Amino acid sequence: MKYKLETIPVWDALKEDSECLLCFLEEKIEDYYLNYYLGSSVMNPETRVKVNQQGFCSDHFRGLLGKNKAHALGLMTHTHLQETLKKLTPLLKDLNKQGTKSSQKGGSTKNLEKTTAKLKESLFSRTDQCLVCQGIERTMRRYAFTIAYLWKDDEEFREAFRKSRGICLDHLPLQLDLGAEILKPRELGDISQVLAELTQQSLERLEGEILWYTQKFDAQNAQKDWGTSKDAHRRCIQKLIGPIKKA
Ligand SMILES: [Zn+2]
Ligand SMILES: [Zn+2]
Repeated sequence: MKYKLETIPVWDALKEDSECLLCFLEEKIEDYYLNYYLGSSVMNPETRVKVNQQGFCSDHFRGLLGKNKAHALGLMTHTHLQETLKKLTPLLKDLNKQGTKSSQKGGSTKNLEKTTAKLKESLFSRTDQCLVCQGIERTMRRYAFTIAYLWKDDEEFREAFRKSRGICLDHLPLQLDLGAEILKPRELGDISQVLAELTQQSLERLEGEILWYTQKFDAQNAQKDWGTSKDAHRRCIQKLIGPIKKA
């Protein structure tokens, strides 16, 4: 078995009856990683080397900032900045040099363009390397694996999953991939069929809920009951894009 089973959190998430059990798990795991990088791991040399090299994307640096752990965040940010400075200094020097050359009369921008491309590549790669994003991705694969495994192994889970609101559009590809990775053709066929039905039903139900949500703003409907639509906008957005309680 390639992945570790996580049956307890997956069952707990299913019982939450949300628009997507994987969203529920992702919000929790994101919080776990943010706390992890601000906890005692700050003093762990191996983790520090990784943080110095890779850092975090903008969402997760904001998330770390929101945790109000000033000292730990300061230490980590300092050494990460030192590493960033080391990486960028030659590229910035080059940009400066090529900029100066191009600014001279008759100067070409050919080398300047090359240097700019290199600098951009280095700047963009910072976001792809975010340690929290990578941790979330690893763990979410384990959860999606567990869902597929329970689907295959546990009749009670299959029943409960069939009655759930399914999975959001953001997590659906992950779940289909993990199903394809471990299930036999017949099992994969079953779960795919159920995922298709749950998704179709959810989108149609949400369309009705969000419609009533918008109509509730008409004066003539002000006194009428919200029904289930009071938070329809939030649930609708979650179904479309995944977890909305980002960092
Ligand atoms: Zn989701
Ligand atoms: Zn990130």
